[in-house]
Amino acid sequence: MSHLFRSASEMDPEAMLSFSPVFARPGEATELPAFELPDGLMDPDTAYQIVHDAAMLDGNSRLNLATFVSTWMDDNAKKIYAESADKNMIDKDEYPATATIEDRCWRMLADLWNVPDADDTIGTSTIGSSEACMLGGLALKRLWQERRREEGKSTERPNLVLSAGVQVVWEKFCNYWDVEARYVPVTEDHLVLDGFELENYIDENTIGVVAILGQTYTGLYEPVQQIAEKLNQIQASTGVDVKIHVDGASGAMVAPFCQPELAWDFQIDRVNSISTSGHKYGLVYPGVGWVVWRNKAACPESLIFHVSYLGGDMPTLALNFSRPGAQVLLQYYQFLRLGREGYRLVQQDSLDVAQYLSSEIEKLGPFELVSRGDTIPVFAWRLRRGSEPRNWNLYDLADRLRMRGWLVPAYPMPDNMTDLVVQRIVVRVGLSRNLASFLLDAIKEEVALLESLEAPLPRASSAGAGFAH
Ligand SMILES: *Cc1c(COP(=O)(O)O)cnc(C)c1O
Repeated sequence: MSHLFRSASEMDPEAMLSFSPVFARPGEATELPAFELPDGLMDPDTAYQIVHDAAMLDGNSRLNLATFVSTWMDDNAKKIYAESADKNMIDKDEYPATATIEDRCWRMLADLWNVPDADDTIGTSTIGSSEACMLGGLALKRLWQERRREEGKSTERPNLVLSAGVQVVWEKFCNYWDVEARYVPVTEDHLVLDGFELENYIDENTIGVVAILGQTYTGLYEPVQQIAEKLNQIQASTGVDVKIHVDGASGAMVAPFCQPELAWDFQIDRVNSISTSGHKYGLVYPGVGWVVWRNKAACPESLIFHVSYLGGDMPTLALNFSRPGAQVLLQYYQFLRLGREGYRLVQQDSLDVAQYLSSEIEKLGPFELVSRGDTIPVFAWRLRRGSEPRNWNLYDLADRLRMRGWLVPAYPMPDNMTDLVVQRIVVRVGLSRNLASFLLDAIKEEVALLESLEAPLPRASSAGAGFAH
């Protein structure tokens, strides 16, 4: 049998490659090019191990309480994902079943969000809320342009009215599509856009108002009904008729199940379109988003492209061409698996965990809640006002928790309130009550340690780090 056991010196280099222990192979035991495509090939198992190990350094996504994006799906979902990784959403002709499922999904959302007429509506999947918001914003801009042209008026200077606390996608929208962004400041008294002084921002060039259901900074809802009522008053006194896009990236998949009494959707006449992230509280891995318009007239025909589909015609509107079809199938899986009752159970559980955590954090002493986690399961806190100056701040606490694997970001509030630093937890499915109690223990221990400091900590460099805007 001894011929089976050869020493490295007896083997030709070729054979060595496949015989060596993984970490002694070329590639593992040698330096890799960082910025140049290698000339030759690499053993696939070695390449796998290298990529796998590098990704391992990213940390554990389940402990990332900064992100709103799904980090847990069940094994059936993982199976569907692996089976459908090759599907391209744009190939409606090649993947007609996936195209049909996409259609079913956005129609289910249209129904969930109370479109007035299920036969007169339009919607689509997107790569995420960003693309969905862009499409909602573009439709508003185009509607305004078409109306202005009919009236023989200038289309030179469109503006969009939004809270200073909007997600960065809206800054991008205004920048990329040449729309003036009119930010309504956030203040201690008006942490969200609530219609206060809205008349000062609206004029005949306003293409729309964005209302956020689940502000990223705090999780708070902007009161869509109240904003709509203010716009009614503005129309009555000025004649200017302004529609709303609801950015429901998070809230549009929570409110229908957990706050069914809240009016925020197409039941409000001024709501032109609604977008959401399938990959946030839609409970799908990244990236899928959705946008739906109240009726066909709310999305100008000039934005729609027609692709051939089984010899017929399939309207599409999107910024991307190719994108994964798997996520759309995963969304349908979740819709079937959970239904309304399942979504309610899952989101309510996250809300319960968020409120358990927020109330325990409030009791610790140094903190004051900015929000409680009773809208979306997201809450933020600040250092207690009027208390003794401390030798530490929220960035220090974020650093200490990060050393233990938990990402709990601290960041300043938007313009006008940047002096106020808050810290936030996003509860998602998978942060169980049991894990939350471990997190709470970590917070208690780190706060006790920070409170025992006799001199200020040298300032950490992580200001704002980890904030998923
Ligand atoms: C996350 C988020 C977005 C961007 O969504 P993506 O799906 O990440 O592109 C837009 N608006 C709000 C309010 C968000 O929370």
